[in-house]
Amino acid sequence: MKGSLFDAFLDLVYPPFHPCPHCRKSGVPIEGEETALCARCFYAFPFLTAEERPEGVESLAHYRQSAQSLVHRLKYKEGLYLARPMAKLMVKKLDLHHHDLVIPVPMHRRRQKQRGYNQADLLARQIASMEELEYESTVLTRIRETAPMYQLNRLQRIQNMWDSIVVREDCLHRVQNQKILLVDDIYTTGATTQACIRQLTEAGAAEVTVATFAVADA
Ligand SMILES: [Zn+2]
Repeated sequence: MKGSLFDAFLDLVYPPFHPCPHCRKSGVPIEGEETALCARCFYAFPFLTAEERPEGVESLAHYRQSAQSLVHRLKYKEGLYLARPMAKLMVKKLDLHHHDLVIPVPMHRRRQKQRGYNQADLLARQIASMEELEYESTVLTRIRETAPMYQLNRLQRIQNMWDSIVVREDCLHRVQNQKILLVDDIYTTGATTQACIRQLTEAGAAEVTVATFAVADA
């Protein structure tokens, strides 16, 4: 879904004040702010230092406390509007310029069907619009349901992912020689992003940088 209908919807549900997504303090201003959190929660926001970021990954925070609350609330319809302030903070704190194309990490088909949207897509769309970069939502796609990850060892997990994520045939020309910014909400084992990077590189991408809101602690 590219374009204005969805953006108009986001604008419509974007409130001037809301309860803090972490501590639920009411009446927190959001429009024009650099964060959706109340001042106290933002003060304690678990920022990652540059050294704490996984190699090749631009990420804001540890996946805990207020960062966890934000990511969690983005997964529910009432929290859709948080995509904008979350992306705003990523754009402000991370080096996300100098790319040609922004794309989201695809979600499991079944999960996306249940939820109706992919939260990585919401972030990617907002980042692209703020940085004035090209954006494509479905360059990468999942071709089959992957086995439950908890049943697999690390190598099997990676293999499982490689088999399931592909660059869509009709999008190959969009990827070639492009510097790509690959966006997800959380970086966990890295298996998913590695699978995406591999597929994009094989399809001819010049460079792939990963950007996530949070990193789950190992
Ligand atoms: Zn708060």
